Amino acid sequence: MHRPGRHFLQIPGPTNVPDRVLRAIAQPTMDHRSADFAALAYDVLAGIKTIFKTRGPVVIFPASGTGAWEAALVNTLSPGDRVLTFETGEFARLWAELAKRLGLDVEVVNTDWRQGVDPELVEGVLRADSERTIRAVMVVHNETSTGVTSRIPEIRKAIDAAGHPALLLVDAVSSLASVDLRHDDWGIDVTLTGSQKGLMLPPGLSFNAISDKAINASQTSQLPKSYWAWGPMLTMNAAGFFPYTPATNLLYGLREAIQILHEEGLEQVFARHRRHAAATRAAVRAWGLDIVCRREDEYSPVLTGVTMPDGHDADAFRTVASERYNMSLGAGLGRLKGKAFRIGHLGDFNDLMLAGTLSGVEMSLAVAGVPFRRGGVQAALELLASR
Ligand SMILES: *Cc1c(COP(=O)(O)O)cnc(C)c1O
Repeated sequence: MHRPGRHFLQIPGPTNVPDRVLRAIAQPTMDHRSADFAALAYDVLAGIKTIFKTRGPVVIFPASGTGAWEAALVNTLSPGDRVLTFETGEFARLWAELAKRLGLDVEVVNTDWRQGVDPELVEGVLRADSERTIRAVMVVHNETSTGVTSRIPEIRKAIDAAGHPALLLVDAVSSLASVDLRHDDWGIDVTLTGSQKGLMLPPGLSFNAISDKAINASQTSQLPKSYWAWGPMLTMNAAGFFPYTPATNLLYGLREAIQILHEEGLEQVFARHRRHAAATRAAVRAWGLDIVCRREDEYSPVLTGVTMPDGHDADAFRTVASERYNMSLGAGLGRLKGKAFRIGHLGDFNDLMLAGTLSGVEMSLAVAGVPFRRGGVQAALELLASR
C-alpha cells in the first residue's frame, strides 16, 4: 500500500542515497572489458584514495562490508596466526568470529559495550607479548551497534610505544566519509569499508585500502584466498580492469558520491556529522534517556545508541515509529536486542531531516507509552538554530 511522503531511513546504514547518485547508477550496463570502463575504473580507483586519504592502492570488491572483513584477514595472515581483538560491540564480535572461522588464533579483550578500544590496554597487551606472536590488531573504528568511536591515532601510538610489529587492521564501514579517518597519516595497514553508509551508495561494494606493510604481509600470507585475493586485483586494476565482473553500475554511483563529498568538502562533511550527533544527544538527554556511549571523547558522529527504560522493549517502540510515522530506527543488536535503539544521523542528511527524525522519536516514545520528559526536540532545535 502506498504510504504518502518520504520514508525516513534513520538506521545507521544503509543510508539515504542522494538523487544524483541514483541517477548516476541508472545507466545502461556497460562492457567491463571496454576502454570506457577503464576510464571509469581509473576515475574511481584514484578518487576513492582521496576519501581514504591514502597514496596506496584501494581494492574494490562486489560485496557487502563482511567481504571486506574477510579480504583484510585472508590477504595478510596465515593459519594459526594470533590476532588481538576488542569486543566493543556486535560488529567487533562478528569480525572476531569470522577470524576464528578462518582458523586464526583470536584473542578477545572484552568491554562493557559502552566504550571504545582502550589504547593503554593495547599497549599493555602488546608489551606483554614479548615473543611478538601477535600478527594483527583488529579495531572497529565506529562501533555501529553502540554508537562509540574508537581513537585510532591513540591506538596507533600505543602500538608504536610498545615497539610491536603487528599490523593495524581497521573496520571503517560506518565511519569512512562521515568521520575523520586518515589511512596514511594514522599508519593503518588495512582500512576496510562498505558502500552503504558514509559513502551514500546502495549496498554492494566493499573496499580495502592497503599499506606497503600490508602488501608485504600479503606476499607471505598462507590463508586460502581466491575471490578476495589482492594480487590479481592489483594487477588488473593497474590496467583499469578487474579479474571478474565488477559491480559496474555501483561504480558509476561511486564516482558521483566521491564528487558530492568533495563539493561539500570532507571537513565540512565531518563537522556536519558531529553537529547532528551533538543535537541528537541534546534531545536524548532532555528526554531523560541514557546514551549507550559513556565516554564524551568517544561519542559517535554517525549514530546515537539510546538505552530504553527498564521494562520497555526497544523493538516494540521501533514498531510504533515504523507503523505510525514511516520511520526506520536501528534495532539493538546482539546483547542490546530489545534494550536499546539506534538513531542514524549519517550520510546524505541535513538539519530538517534531523528535526523530523527527532520529532518522530519523541512522538513514538509518547505513543508507545515509554516514560520520558518532553522537550528533546526543542533542545535539539536550539542547538541547530544557534548562531
Ligand atoms: C555495517 C557494518 C559492517 C557489515 O557490513 P555488511 O555490509 O552488513 O556486511 C561491518 N562493520 C561495521 C562497523 C558496520 O557498521
